[in-house]
Amino acid sequence: SRTIAQYDPDLAAAIQGEVVRQHEHIELIASENYTSPAVMEAQGSQLTNKYAEGYPGKRFYGGCEHVDVLEQLAIDRVKQLFGAEYANVQPHSGSQANQAVYFAVLKPGDTIMGMNLGHGGHLTHGSPANLSGKLFNIVPYGLNDKEEIDYDEMERIAIEAKPKLIIGGASAYALRFDFERMAAIAKKVGAYFMVDMAHYAGLIAAGLYPNPVPHADFVTSTTHKTLRGPRGGLILAKAEFEKVLNSSVFPALQGGPLMHVIAGKAVAFKEAAQPEFKTYQQQVIKNAQAMAAALTERGLRIISGHTESHLFLVDLRPKGLTGKAADAALGKAHITVNKNSIPNDPESPFVTSGIRIGSPAITTRGFKEAEAAQVANLIADVLDNPDDEANLAAVAEKVKALTARFPVYGE
Ligand code: PLP
Repeated sequence: SRTIAQYDPDLAAAIQGEVVRQHEHIELIASENYTSPAVMEAQGSQLTNKYAEGYPGKRFYGGCEHVDVLEQLAIDRVKQLFGAEYANVQPHSGSQANQAVYFAVLKPGDTIMGMNLGHGGHLTHGSPANLSGKLFNIVPYGLNDKEEIDYDEMERIAIEAKPKLIIGGASAYALRFDFERMAAIAKKVGAYFMVDMAHYAGLIAAGLYPNPVPHADFVTSTTHKTLRGPRGGLILAKAEFEKVLNSSVFPALQGGPLMHVIAGKAVAFKEAAQPEFKTYQQQVIKNAQAMAAALTERGLRIISGHTESHLFLVDLRPKGLTGKAADAALGKAHITVNKNSIPNDPESPFVTSGIRIGSPAITTRGFKEAEAAQVANLIADVLDNPDDEANLAAVAEKVKALTARFPVYGE
């Protein structure tokens, strides 16, 4: 019954270091958030000890009467939250949720259509480095010269390539998807339509971003980004796919579900149904827009011109900088972002010409538009003089003062 600090001081120090980093640094990674203490309590509970292969009421192990209740709570809540007929809350991650849909309806060699990774798509939507790109024939769609999704071109490619599955959703697209239009294209060419809403799920739950559920055959998501739950995945679908999706997650791809994580998901789905969550998501969008406006004023270019969500990409070429250099300089000033390719990026994915900026985490800690604009100005201060150590140290001091005013977990 010893604590980690008593039993394993080396590990305790690493964990404590991360706790301090999360408090003292400004977190702008668009896929991260600070989950609630209740979600963390669920994940640190005795549920971690339980095996529960199968589904509520149909398990392969005894002693599942209590985990059945909590998994059913998670299922019912997420169906209600997004208006879905079917939900599976067992995928261990967003990647596994996507794999489960692919395994359910595709065969190796089938053609699938997803957003070009270099235009904002995700690895699991057909990158050659990912299993999806190795197993399937990929025909990507992308952005037009206004850096908006080119639906006419998407339709043209779909008619020509006849994909079996069309995938909506992205990791770095700031604007709204037209899921209705995509569903019409899929219908026209006889394709299944899947939306990976991982990035937008929290905004969608709050009614602030288009809901794909009425339009798509399958909707996958992570639970840890804007949705602010534990790290994990989920699948929503039309009722007709229940059998094939359930068997695709278990036993095809996964073994025992992580019941402590599923309990965390149940908490997060309850939180996401509250009025405060909508207020939070409204602020998430306002803060992203405040940062984009302030960075534009400081001479940087926002991809697609503006944002309608929690994130945006910044083109660093006006400052003669790469994403790699900007990411490193901002890190020294205790501002955490990730380098990111921009559409038609002349640099490699390891260098890039852009950074991705997201507002979910700073909004959870209480930043409003004034602080968001201040953050953007600190970013611009770093990027104006990224090699000047005194400049970086001065910004780091300001970051420290700002973060001290907004404790994440009441430090
Ligand atoms: N789908 C999208 C759109 C994502 O952005 C991500 C993560 O970045 C994933 C799926 C993968 O989720 P995970 O990291 O849980 O596998």
